[in-house]
Amino acid sequence: MNPWPRELWRLSTYLIIGLIIGLIIGHPIRVLLFIVTLYLTWHLVNVYRLEQWLQQSGQPPQGTGIWMEIFDRLYHLQKQSRSRKKRLTDYLSRFKESTSAMPDSTVVLNEFGQIEWINKAAQKHLGLLPSKDIGQHISNLLRTPEFFAYIAKGNFDEPLETHPPLNDQEHISVRIIPYGNNQRLLIARDITPLKRLEQMRRDFISNISHELRTPLTVLRGYLETMQNDDELQQTVHWQKSIDVMNQQTRRMQNIVDDLLMLSRMETEQRPTKQEEINIAEMLQTIQSAALALGEKGHEKQQKIIIEADERLQLRGNRTELYSAFSNLVFNAVHYTPNEGIITIRWYRDDSGAHLSVLDTGIGIAPQHISRITERFYRVDTGRSRETGGTGLGLAIVKHVLQRHQGQMRIFSQVNRGSTFTCDFPLKQTIQRQALTNVAS
Ligand code: ADP
Repeated sequence: MNPWPRELWRLSTYLIIGLIIGLIIGHPIRVLLFIVTLYLTWHLVNVYRLEQWLQQSGQPPQGTGIWMEIFDRLYHLQKQSRSRKKRLTDYLSRFKESTSAMPDSTVVLNEFGQIEWINKAAQKHLGLLPSKDIGQHISNLLRTPEFFAYIAKGNFDEPLETHPPLNDQEHISVRIIPYGNNQRLLIARDITPLKRLEQMRRDFISNISHELRTPLTVLRGYLETMQNDDELQQTVHWQKSIDVMNQQTRRMQNIVDDLLMLSRMETEQRPTKQEEINIAEMLQTIQSAALALGEKGHEKQQKIIIEADERLQLRGNRTELYSAFSNLVFNAVHYTPNEGIITIRWYRDDSGAHLSVLDTGIGIAPQHISRITERFYRVDTGRSRETGGTGLGLAIVKHVLQRHQGQMRIFSQVNRGSTFTCDFPLKQTIQRQALTNVAS
């Protein structure tokens, strides 16, 4: 209910009574002034009581008139805010209890990246101490170059894999989640067992590939001898069997070679031998090999066009880049029918240098595109085997590009063709002057 009409009514009544008394005794102004002074004094006394109460809290003072209303409302608001505060404190302590019990390290950072709170796991795994480290900037404590770069980049969509500050034998995956008022939650998970498992898988594949290499070489040697044996060749039945065996052992050898290449790339962080490569020249070699491949296997009359910037060179590992680019071009040959056109482009623009392989082939349906760089993922297994594919080609391309700070984009339409584009940052390239060969 609005208290003001009552208060105004009360004041008017006092003033009217004062005026009547004033008129009776012959001093209306003085009596009115006296009443106004009394009214003001009453307000001042209540303001004083309010101020005292706000300082000491506790029960509100007893008021009359409008002041009774004011004290009641303030008391009500005070009670409400107390219970909200209690609820928030309960939430906070429950949040702290649950995050304290979490096995993942949790660190609350303020808008400046300074530590506000840490849980027990963060103390154990990241070596942070509440007494010493609260208020410190997080990058003063997690001092790894990868973490600096991660924070500087400011893009926390993907987690960062790094080592905890006190132990470079262990691995952690760090995630930063922005929340609230520019605050951030840092969550670090111990991924050492996962990394060990990955390492075991890599070692297993690498060992098994090495072990298979020798028996395969022996088998191929014998099969070649049998292929050259005139007596056997005269038997139609044997001739066919030997051809199939030869074909299959070659396929197995290709798989083993591709697996070995992949596991070597996984073990070495960066390509060992980096040099300046004339990509236009490399593309000519690949073009000849691709034409031979097209003619040999399928009598395809495809056109392979090269549009390359001859002055644009790329810094990298020759063997790896040859393998990546030839895989893309050979795929284009395999998955493009007779008389199709394959265009290989090598150029640069403001965003970097690009190698793209365009074909007018069978294309890839959208649901496969995100998966075709996985190992052994094929859209059509039968067709891939027919063409001698290992299912590892695009996985190799992806790895090679990652090791050259590049990435691959795929655009494809079923029955119209595909475009595979490899993007490299400009810092990986060198622009040569035409003919003179001087760095620009
Ligand atoms: P594969 O040895 O089977 O060619 P890749 O890893 O090179 O293995 O390619 C994976 C799959 O992607 C292929 O099996 C094929 O289905 C598809 N693919 C690759 N390149 C092309 C292309 N240019 N056109 C159509 N499909 C392609």
